[in-house]
Amino acid sequence: TIDFSQKINSTSTRRRVAIIGAGLVGSLSAIYFAKRGWDVLLFELRKDLRVPESTPSYLHRSINLALSARGISALRIAGSNLIDVVLSQATPMKGRMIHTGEGKLHSQLYGTFGECTYSVDRAKLLMLLLDNAEEFKNVKIYFEHRLKRCDFDAGVLDVENINEGTSSKIEADLVVGADGTYSTVRTQLMRVVRMNYQQEFISHAYCELRIPPKRNEKGEFEFAMDPHHLHIWPRHTFMLIALPNLDKSFTCTLFMPYEQFDAIKTEGDLIAFFQLYYQDALPLIGEQNIKKDYFLNPKGSLISIKCSPYHYKDRVVIIGDAAHSMVPFFGQGMNCGFQDVEILYEILEQHNINPEKPQINNINTDNTKEMKFRKDLERALDTYTQFRHIDVTAICDLAIAKEIRGMVALAVPESHNSAVHYGK
Ligand code: FAD
Repeated sequence: TIDFSQKINSTSTRRRVAIIGAGLVGSLSAIYFAKRGWDVLLFELRKDLRVPESTPSYLHRSINLALSARGISALRIAGSNLIDVVLSQATPMKGRMIHTGEGKLHSQLYGTFGECTYSVDRAKLLMLLLDNAEEFKNVKIYFEHRLKRCDFDAGVLDVENINEGTSSKIEADLVVGADGTYSTVRTQLMRVVRMNYQQEFISHAYCELRIPPKRNEKGEFEFAMDPHHLHIWPRHTFMLIALPNLDKSFTCTLFMPYEQFDAIKTEGDLIAFFQLYYQDALPLIGEQNIKKDYFLNPKGSLISIKCSPYHYKDRVVIIGDAAHSMVPFFGQGMNCGFQDVEILYEILEQHNINPEKPQINNINTDNTKEMKFRKDLERALDTYTQFRHIDVTAICDLAIAKEIRGMVALAVPESHNSAVHYGK
């Protein structure tokens, strides 16, 4: 059973939101809801990644991410000095560096006004968001707790404590599903709404490799390539990319059709493949490193998911990858998820959704107020689905189109209007 007495108890005068999934998007949404005065319960099935031994299991996906204007805007509005801390730990990338098959380099700046995206460490960013969320006294995070079922009409969730194998019934005024690509909240939502749902696995997989820092003449470590570019080696149906890390290494991601991965069976096959297609990258990664990383690191699948609606009445809304999973060629999955939070917040504000419970002891007045709250919240969530679906669908489609057109442009920054200026 869950003990709510530590921070949040059921006699609270505030409404309760249960957020499922303490990934990047769920953690940011916890901050937004807490700032607005909701009581926030955040449930996460994994261990707390701030506990050292739990980190490897979290890093099932990319080690670093391109953060761009959408994401930066949402982090900025989340308040305090969050965005300053994030950017102080990030590496600005002012353009793409194309590595041709002949070993030539072409810098393609993102804009003429110094626009850039930022390479951020996924685990560090999540830790920062969790630390920030936990600073609010109205936020309680439950790690190793899995959502199993939802009765949305009753406002009751069935949550399992994974360690103890026990289940608890949790009441919430609103459920926010931020539980990622294979979302349980979305599956539960499908039972109560006529959801249109589309899922597509693309033929490509990805594998992460690493370019270590190199030593200069003074014996100091430095980047092996220009750190202020997102490096891309486009090669027909496959490509290699590299994003800089703070420790002066680069994390490379090799995107290829599954058949191509399967065709590389031995270390000899691998080296021959790199000598043919990625001649300049091979010495940077190092033959020993590549042999180890390529065969040890998992080959991740890539999926695109679109669905609609994102909500049911005034009860539940899904955001982030739970609502839209996109292939990563635009570097926009997390950025869009962060923007979901910002837009949802704006719409809740426009509909005057106030989390304070009415404190009047007259039953009729209470009921009228309660009904108004519920109607306003339903309208707000409906507006959110209508408004958000168009943009999100467009980005999912564009990301797939990039893959089909030959994988040549990753992490395109947004228009000049929303540009972020390099170095600021
Ligand atoms: P997740 O990060 O998946 O978090 C969901 C959380 O919910 C998880 O912690 C999970 O454990 C938890 N959970 C799941 N089920 C339950 C349950 N039943 N009960 C409780 N908890 C549950 N995006 C960018 O913006 N820029 C990039 O450069 C970029 N690069 C990428 C590179 C690759 C190779 C890939 C695969 C993706 C990339 N993305 C990028 C996309 C980005 O990783 C995702 O969009 C982002 O992680 C989505 O965050 P989320 O919080 O919605 O979901």
